[in-house]
Amino acid sequence: MTHYPHLLAPLDLGHVTLPNRVLMGSMHTGLEETKDWNRVAEFYAARARGGVGLMVTGGMAPNREGGVFPGAAGLFSDEDIANHKVVTDRVHDAGGRIAMQILHAGRYAYGPECVSASGIKSPISPFPPKELDEAGIEKQIADIVTSASRAREAGYDGVEIMGSEGYFINQFLVRHTNKREDRWGGSYENRMRLPIEIVRRTREAVGADFIIIYRLSMIDLVPDGSTFDEVVQLAQEIEKAGATIINTGIGWHEARIPTIATSVPRAAFTWVTKKLMGKVGIPVITSNRINTPEVAEEVLAGGAADMVSMARPFLADADFVAKAMAGKSDQIAPCIACNQACLDHTFSGKISSCLVNPRACFETELTITPADQPKTIGVVGAGPAGLSAAMTAAERGHQVTLFDRADDIGGQLNMARVIPGKEEFHGLVDWFRTMVAEHEISLQLGRNVAAGDLEGFDEVIIATGVVPRDPGIDGQDGPNVLSYIDVLRHKAPVGDRVAIIGAGGIGFDVAEFLVHEGESPTENLDLWREEWGIGDPSETRGGLAPEGPQPEAPARQITLLQRKAEAPGKRLGKTTGWIHRAALRMKDVKMMGGVNYEKIDAQGLHVSQGEARENPTVIEADTIILCSGQLPERTLADALEAQGVACHVIGGADVAAELDAKRAINQGTRLAATL
Ligand code: FAD
Ligand code: NAP
Ligand code: SF4
Repeated sequence: MTHYPHLLAPLDLGHVTLPNRVLMGSMHTGLEETKDWNRVAEFYAARARGGVGLMVTGGMAPNREGGVFPGAAGLFSDEDIANHKVVTDRVHDAGGRIAMQILHAGRYAYGPECVSASGIKSPISPFPPKELDEAGIEKQIADIVTSASRAREAGYDGVEIMGSEGYFINQFLVRHTNKREDRWGGSYENRMRLPIEIVRRTREAVGADFIIIYRLSMIDLVPDGSTFDEVVQLAQEIEKAGATIINTGIGWHEARIPTIATSVPRAAFTWVTKKLMGKVGIPVITSNRINTPEVAEEVLAGGAADMVSMARPFLADADFVAKAMAGKSDQIAPCIACNQACLDHTFSGKISSCLVNPRACFETELTITPADQPKTIGVVGAGPAGLSAAMTAAERGHQVTLFDRADDIGGQLNMARVIPGKEEFHGLVDWFRTMVAEHEISLQLGRNVAAGDLEGFDEVIIATGVVPRDPGIDGQDGPNVLSYIDVLRHKAPVGDRVAIIGAGGIGFDVAEFLVHEGESPTENLDLWREEWGIGDPSETRGGLAPEGPQPEAPARQITLLQRKAEAPGKRLGKTTGWIHRAALRMKDVKMMGGVNYEKIDAQGLHVSQGEARENPTVIEADTIILCSGQLPERTLADALEAQGVACHVIGGADVAAELDAKRAINQGTRLAATL
């Protein structure tokens, strides 16, 4: 008897039956652009071996003008078809099924050739699109249909037509971006014509035994977006036009509401898909922030959809489904929805990977093989660097002892997980705990290790992390001054008026921690929807609440400061920084850049501005919190070096600047893969 009867039930699509209800959603990883087809094939084949029901590739451009960026991959030539065949063959050999996503970016295409329904520039692109004429529209449809036919030739089991997230097709659907007065604009019947024609003509071209998924924007989250009646009408027409499955799209890329970040509650948008259930006869897929088999099962059992789409969870763990089937869901490496190694990489032009799993998209390069010679390995520090090194070494057959002076594993992750909106870090620490036990690592907690304790190991790894940087401010030893560790780890009492010194990742997190009191909105969907102003698309166009965001009043009055003259928070995550900044602005947090810290006294924090130390000001505060960065904790590494004992130093103990869990885990894994 399976633990997940709904999730692991087969799905009959007529000409093919999927073995379970799990779709690996489309992700742009950048792999196709490497043109290393063995590497692309191995990425997908690993997920096929892991048992996923159906996979969708990253978006392929149907033509040059529709590519997300210049040079975006697509099936333009016989050579492209042959290359993609390497991928589909490998997936089929592994027992999997794969559909190719066709993504026409319209006005989101990053290039001067971009086209759309009307010549209205998007707020997230510098390029105004060219308004298509009748012949131009026909060309776009024909290119999409040709792309689908080529996908079939390349051995794909189907295509996904990207009709959501504010891309080309979406741009025709709403008046906000479609001001046309011909048969492609005006009434909703006319605005729907494009997706219907695309699906109808694609079905004609590819025949009956080919999957066509249509990704439909069910809540646009932009002004003047679709109503839910329009969503239902479109879904019914898409079914008639020949689609096999309807997938859910949530929010346009230009929406100012987070839709997949870690602070978004799990399964936060499945209620939207549920509204469509029963209105169409074909299967419906739901998506966004579903990251465990338990959540997915609950969503399906609750009747919200016929199938679930998870994308990033398959970067974190290729064997997600196989582990769920084997009743080992606690061993699934959890996607914490941080975006740090996936979307942030994509938007920086780098190959995607995963913070939790550095092997994602690097399957052919970073291999974990049994060690030739099993060794005894001592690892000091059970933060993410030490944990990943210990786990990987043990997986390879080494005998590992892992020490930490704390009474639990996790290192700084234990401070990250108390921040409202970062609850997913609990799952990461829990997973590490499971894997330490699974790999029979000897865990020695409460052990403050000195150099003499490490004799007898074949290899020693030092992962002792960091110490807070001392900012050397006059008065910082006063009773009204705390460090982030006092606040987050030791829960020291904090007054009502707070000044935070340092506006890096930790300064922002401490501010987030202190403006909240009571339940985190991430754990209460109604509260979270109110906070961000998410209404019901049945009641308001695009699903934006008419009253706008209604955050709870801040629990404290906070000023967040830095010395750099730039806007605070500018260097936070590429795809999530705006969320952190917006969240604190909603809580009236005052942000100041370009300050000098003059002194701290009972009144508060005295600052001045700029090099000339002008405008002396007192920020009246009951508590001043130091978040002024970190330095390597090298006491042990230095002592070993002084004794001439060789050791490997990783994570914060190695380099503290710009350290994050992504680098710590990557470095730990890569080191252990070589020992
Ligand atoms: P640490 O996590 O610092 O672990 C070092 C461990 O070594 C500790 O457990 C310590 O007790 C132990 N130790 C030290 N000396 C000894 C000794 N002599 N004997 C035995 N044990 C010893 N990163 C992200 O990527 N994303 C985030 O969203 C994020 N949010 C964060 C939020 C907060 C509030 C904080 C504080 C950090 C956050 N980070 C985040 C940073 C991330 O947690 C660190 O980069 C990461 O933990 C560093 O890993 P590490 O293993 O090098 O060191
Ligand atoms: P950080 O991001 O480097 O920020 C340090 C802050 O301290 C900066 O605002 C800096 O600004 C200030 N500072 C530096 N030297 C100072 C000095 N001598 N006196 C006063 N202020 C000083 O480091 P962090 O906030 O400590 O975070 C540590 C690491 O954890 C970061 O590298 C980060 O990547 C990671 N982290 C990530 C996340 C995430 O969401 N991804 C969240 C939390 C932490 P000025 O120099 O301008 O004053
Ligand atoms: Fe998930 Fe973060 Fe990995 Fe991306 S990097 S897949 S969001 S855990």
